[in-house]
Amino acid sequence: MRAIEALVPRWPEGKRSCVALAFDLDGPTGGAMLDGSIWRNPSYFTLGAYGPWRALGRILDVLAGRDVPATFFVPAWVIENWPSQCRAIVERGHEVAYHGYMHEAFWTLTPDGQREVMASSTRIFERYLGVRPVGFRTPSGDWSAETIGILAEYGVRYSSSMRGDDRPYVLDAKSGLVEIPARWELDDYASLAYQRNPDYPAGLDRIASYDATLDNWCREFDGSHDDGLCMTTLFHPKVSGKPGRIALLEGFVDHVLQADDVWFASCSEVADWWIESKQ
Ligand SMILES: [Zn+2]
Repeated sequence: MRAIEALVPRWPEGKRSCVALAFDLDGPTGGAMLDGSIWRNPSYFTLGAYGPWRALGRILDVLAGRDVPATFFVPAWVIENWPSQCRAIVERGHEVAYHGYMHEAFWTLTPDGQREVMASSTRIFERYLGVRPVGFRTPSGDWSAETIGILAEYGVRYSSSMRGDDRPYVLDAKSGLVEIPARWELDDYASLAYQRNPDYPAGLDRIASYDATLDNWCREFDGSHDDGLCMTTLFHPKVSGKPGRIALLEGFVDHVLQADDVWFASCSEVADWWIESKQ
């Protein structure tokens, strides 16, 4: 154990560290949908649609088999178009949270544009899932100076969008918004998402090996656990929820479970506990 004890948070039930598994169920939303080009690229549409249509159920089965909770950040357009699949997330005991309507980059929107996205998303979560989310992960990486205040208007209590720590932290004293930071090391896009037409990620000519990817994720957990920190993931069902790759998620969760003193929690549980315990 190398942790600097004064910096180690105190987790519930005396657990040493916290893992808040999280998935971004983007489906086919994003830049190509926002500019309309996806409707001229049906094959590209299906790459995204595979997430809610096919991969999600596989991931829910893995989580159920190990009885661990997760948080799903879902663009509201995905809920409108795959309502029964998204209802299954809630019915199987997981959290759903905001991720834009069509995965808008909030830093490109006016404040009123951001409010429109949040208002329509709120209506859709309530209508289709009967849920009023309390969490938000900003789509496409960043937001604008007004975003924190707008999130508070819509009852958002936590964000998982920033990178400033490896523990939760209070991002805004006025609203009390808690940040649960995620990191690119735990983004499955970084190692597994290469695709042709369009080439993505640009300049990477192959995916990483599955062994190396699982090893990376496990080592990230080992470090987080040694230091008693909070780890969340940026996994995407359309990337990780495939027949061969699902073994990586299984292997990763099994590795974490071996530690035996980890607090598995949804992101809202982490945020609530962080506020209550005044860390
Ligand atoms: Zn996303």
